Amino acid sequence: MNELWSLSAQQVSSRVRNGDFTIEDYVFQLLERINAIDDKIKAFITVNDDALETARKIDTKIKRQETIGPLAGVAVGVKDNICTKNIRTTCASKLLHEYKPPFDATVISRLKERDAIIIGKLNLDEFAMGSTTEFGSFGPTHNPWDPNYVVGGSSGGSAASVAASECTVSLGSDTGGSIRCPASFCSVVGFKPTYGSVSRYGLISYSNSLEQIGPIARTVSDIVMMMNAISGHDENDNTTHFQKMYEFSDASDLKKPVRFGLVKELIEGSDPVISRLVYSSMDLLSSAGFKWEEISLNSIDYSLASYYTIAMAEASSNLARYDNLRYGFDCQPEGYEWNSYFSTIRNNFGDEVKKRIMIGSHVLLSGYYSKYYLKAQKIRSILRQEVKKLFKYIDILISPTMPVLPFRLGEGIDNPMKRYLIDANTVIANLIGIPAISIPTGFNDKLPIGVQLMADEMQDQLLLSVSKIYERIAGVRRKPDFI
Ligand code: GLN
Repeated sequence: MNELWSLSAQQVSSRVRNGDFTIEDYVFQLLERINAIDDKIKAFITVNDDALETARKIDTKIKRQETIGPLAGVAVGVKDNICTKNIRTTCASKLLHEYKPPFDATVISRLKERDAIIIGKLNLDEFAMGSTTEFGSFGPTHNPWDPNYVVGGSSGGSAASVAASECTVSLGSDTGGSIRCPASFCSVVGFKPTYGSVSRYGLISYSNSLEQIGPIARTVSDIVMMMNAISGHDENDNTTHFQKMYEFSDASDLKKPVRFGLVKELIEGSDPVISRLVYSSMDLLSSAGFKWEEISLNSIDYSLASYYTIAMAEASSNLARYDNLRYGFDCQPEGYEWNSYFSTIRNNFGDEVKKRIMIGSHVLLSGYYSKYYLKAQKIRSILRQEVKKLFKYIDILISPTMPVLPFRLGEGIDNPMKRYLIDANTVIANLIGIPAISIPTGFNDKLPIGVQLMADEMQDQLLLSVSKIYERIAGVRRKPDFI
């Protein structure tokens, strides 16, 4: 059977059960496809050698009519900052090129328990610091819609591989937009759940108080399927919620009318092509009978400064473990001389990471702590209070996911401030901990545009139900044509 790689996770799982094709055939086709096109896209850092073997094992289970898991056979790509037992996990950092974790992250064990197949590990910005997937030690990932353009980031490999049908779904991590930004730039769906919904055990930390693991897929239904597998309490991550709210359903029927709020400041700060598209999707929602109004968020101007201050402070502390003693690079210096060990580390972190460690250490210094770090935390609280008030009468906040269209690889690379500014719309959800999703909504010529929907914390089910409706009314679904 041809083009098994183009199926959704839902289709794969139901059709292998019916015996329409074997999981081995499907995985084989995906591996062939990766072989044929990944040279142009460079989404993969490592392809899992055991994928076919695992596929055969699940096929045998099906043949013997044994019970199989809900994700049986579905090929999942994994961002390379999520630990996979015996498969190298590099964070796209020279320091971890040889690191093979001795354990699986909780999300990986949960996928394996449900008979999903880990197809490989995907490219990112080093330690997930960036918005373009250009800052990793394996080189940039290319946009499947035009390989001269950036793919977004930092989960660029996770979005590009799904857009190019090199895997069926993937996992990314989102600290300030790293799932939603590349999802928007590649025209796929990317979901960042409420903080604490998905275990971070085995996610190599960048900024713990902001980040969450979440799925990327070609349809909202596949996102739902993945969330049912990966979410829920984990005794290895005590920030995970106990509530059993994670019985997500695909149902798009809503019990009460949904009130949408379009965030004025985020529309005004966007490329006019993007804001026009957002307004026309609001028209589509209106014609379908939904009510919306423009709302204002006053503290939004400070959110980016607050985000980068907190993220860098946490990063400087998290990355202290790469001291070449606990984790690091096998440099085999002459003897165990202190200076040579530490200079090896310095020379093997990329420039962006080094910069963030330095700024992060600076804002935590006793003389600067209250001036920068504490102030950033105060802004975070104010923003939270302001958004919480809005959620008393608004159910879903809408904005463009990204204020800009995908740009050419390398463009503005020497202007870090400009690069940081493109995260303006996404960091809000991380600072507050609320769920947010990016849904493909249109194109400017060949360049994708995504729209972001956000809901109050723990309203993930509501957000996914509304997303399903939005996808049907205003969403677009196309395949990149160069592939
Ligand atoms: N671009 C943001 C940053 O560099 C977000 C990254 C992320 O979400 N991992 O911090």
